[in-house]
Amino acid sequence: MPNIILIGFSYTGKSEVGKALAAKLCWDHVDTDDLIVQSVGKSIERVFSEDSERRFRDLERQALKDACARRDAVISTGGGVIIVPANRSLMVKSGFVVCLEAFPATIYGRLRENAKDEDPETVRPLLEGDDFLGNISKLKELRQPLYAIAEWTVHTDRLSVEQVADEVMRAYRLTHLGGGDIRETPESPFPQADYTVFAGNRAYPGYVGWDILDELGSRMRYVGLSGTAYVIADTPVFSLYGRRVIASLKEAGFDIDHRLIPAGESTKTLAAAEGIYQWLAERRAERGHVVVSLGGGVAGDLAGFVAATYLRGMPLVQTPTTLLAMVDASIGGKTAVNLPAGKNLVGVFHQPRLVLADVATLKTLPARELTAGWAEVIKHALILDHILFTHIEAHRDELRSLDPALATDVIRQSANIKAHVVSADETETGGPRTLLNYGHTVGHALEAALGYEGIVHGEAVAIGMNAAADISQRMGLLSADDFRRQRDLLAFFGLPRRAPPVNLNAVREALAMDKKVSGRVNRWVLLHNIGEAAVRDDVPDILVEAVLKEVLPG
Ligand code: NAD
Repeated sequence: MPNIILIGFSYTGKSEVGKALAAKLCWDHVDTDDLIVQSVGKSIERVFSEDSERRFRDLERQALKDACARRDAVISTGGGVIIVPANRSLMVKSGFVVCLEAFPATIYGRLRENAKDEDPETVRPLLEGDDFLGNISKLKELRQPLYAIAEWTVHTDRLSVEQVADEVMRAYRLTHLGGGDIRETPESPFPQADYTVFAGNRAYPGYVGWDILDELGSRMRYVGLSGTAYVIADTPVFSLYGRRVIASLKEAGFDIDHRLIPAGESTKTLAAAEGIYQWLAERRAERGHVVVSLGGGVAGDLAGFVAATYLRGMPLVQTPTTLLAMVDASIGGKTAVNLPAGKNLVGVFHQPRLVLADVATLKTLPARELTAGWAEVIKHALILDHILFTHIEAHRDELRSLDPALATDVIRQSANIKAHVVSADETETGGPRTLLNYGHTVGHALEAALGYEGIVHGEAVAIGMNAAADISQRMGLLSADDFRRQRDLLAFFGLPRRAPPVNLNAVREALAMDKKVSGRVNRWVLLHNIGEAAVRDDVPDILVEAVLKEVLPG
């Protein structure tokens, strides 16, 4: 990942934005003017007055070289750095160059407010004579063609420092994350949504917030739902949050009925679906009414399957209460029930009309389920978002203890990644949605070999991700350092590196079965870098064997 280099005229905010951006990214912030001051031990004003402009330019060149040699750095440059052709080519070669822009009048206003005696050389010519605004306009016009080296330009006139930093981050994400597969989606028709899923010619909003369960009813009205809401809820979850959900729906004018389903994977059956069909039929449910799921992925998949099939489809609202469901299962419209022959064998795509995730509900989630959910959050960052990964690394303690602001922010970002991916590849037709299967080749084989006992999905995926990263490293794709960073972060969140006791042959058989299903080869999602994944089908068997020995117990 290249550094981010900020260029632009004086008083466009390069230093302040650089600091804010570096804090957001958990990168270093380097200001070339500061490097010069450190290296000569005197102010830039004194370099100019006691030495010469020539000396200053030499120092600036060296400072820029030192800054560009760093990794994970936001570099704020001096206003005149672009005058020197060698500086321009160095910046273009070594970073993502962003120009901060402002109108002369804005620059003049900021200068009047902030100009200091010791302001460096670029500011002095602006303050000569009495036509300051004219000076600014002239100098700016002269330099304007040189700013064209920037890959991105942010107009800062009406934005705060934070907003400019966010805008640079958005540009960086758009241009450098996800190997170019995830393009920006159209503008959301839901201005308050935390993410929007675009599926076919429809779109739906997702809300992720702390303590927002009471907003469910009004959000449902906002997307045009009305009539009777049939709440299908995981029993323990309903006892914790059912009353609030019902109250919110009532207040928004819905008639309500609810049905409880036992917790656990064994509930996801055709028989359970049939029981709910009967229940809906007795209540004369109509196509215009709405099914609301409340609980984790089990409630979501089962209620979703029923909503997809009863009366050939009813509107569905997902209210996920597990971390896995918030960032994964509730987004993207996959619904399914299990057969004795295997998990999720009968299902259909049915996109919800809205998803509302109240992160505060995670406070009551059993610890093991929460841990498993972090595997999915980390997976999203690993495959597509280097910045999010670094952010999680930096705030690991607060996240593990569910700090409201940080946890909500990271879960929102993770849900956004899933929303982008499914918007780009609604029905998993070989596009970016395949990347979500990172860790699944070994993870699924492991779950199948264990008969889905003694391990939860997130744990199996974490072990699978260790295997996939190990393969990536052995194939020369992933650096040892990135491999270690993945391993350490998963371990920090309490995710296992190795599987519980399991029959190695059963794992091999499950991998062989997977080969048959996907056309004689195992399709592996591997990592090139943190934040950059690719699908490969050329992993040598001998390598798979070697890695299995690492992740399966002796
Ligand atoms: P889950 O739904 O089984 O919930 C786990 C446990 O947590 C349950 O015992 C539940 O009662 C309890 N629980 C849930 N929320 C709680 C809360 N806030 N407080 C206290 N207890 C709470 O498990 P899950 O991991 O959410 O979902 C797993 C299912 O999701 C699997 O069936 C899997 O196939 C499916 N899934 C679907 C998709 C999809 O795209 N549709 C994606 C991934 C997984």
